[in-house]
Amino acid sequence: MSSTSTTSPAVVPANTTGLSVTDVRKDYSTPAEPLVVLRGVSFSLGAGERVAIVGPSGSGKSTLLNILGTLDEPTAGQVTLDGINPFSLRPKALAKFRSEKIGFVFQDHHLLPQCTALENVLVSRLALGNVSDADSARGSELLKEVGLEGRATHLPAELSGGERQRVAIARALMNRPRLLLCDEPTGNLDTQTGQAIGELLIRLATESQAILVAVTHSPALASMFPRQMGMVDGRLT
Ligand code: ADP
Ligand code: MG
Repeated sequence: MSSTSTTSPAVVPANTTGLSVTDVRKDYSTPAEPLVVLRGVSFSLGAGERVAIVGPSGSGKSTLLNILGTLDEPTAGQVTLDGINPFSLRPKALAKFRSEKIGFVFQDHHLLPQCTALENVLVSRLALGNVSDADSARGSELLKEVGLEGRATHLPAELSGGERQRVAIARALMNRPRLLLCDEPTGNLDTQTGQAIGELLIRLATESQAILVAVTHSPALASMFPRQMGMVDGRLT
């Protein structure tokens, strides 16, 4: 059994670069009737495109983001990233795909409290047990890019909320993702800090030509994005 196979049916021939989402539906089974959360979502984004998804609580934004991040599977429909349908990969290949291609920034930073800022940035490499000098250098460079030069050895508890989110952004970029997914990335921050974090996300995604999809309640954050999509009751508007 090959754990890294990306051969058919994972490879989708047409439209091979960028993110393509086609008629994605998601139901959750409940004791009563199925709860329909996504009712047919379609869009596509090319390298370096940046979009904000806004919509009321419960409209399905996090569910969509989790599906784009391959953390959850759609009930129907198709997602491809650079021509690969991740849901047709075997579990090990899917984990590799996720780690190499996708970066996540959540509302809560999810940093490991016992690890320093730099160790948190390098966590995907630490998990594999092989952190090279080049990895450490890239981690330090990323901390510098997010404005945390001199904070590499600080623990999360020794950082402010905005600084923790900067570490989370550096961690998300460590593996040079093609897709950067952010769920309410400024939700725990004050307006001014949130603005700075939004600018940082957009700048770094643009520089690395990653596709950036951010879910947000914040009109201020959404307005920084060149493209906005609304989500209402499981449909994009
Ligand atoms: P949003 O992020 O827009 O606030 P969510 O995507 O988190 O919305 O949730 C959309 C709907 O799906 C909600 O009604 C929520 O209760 C439901 N939901 C989310 N995850 C699950 C789950 N694992 N099982 C059952 N229902 C869920
Ligand atoms: Mg949500």
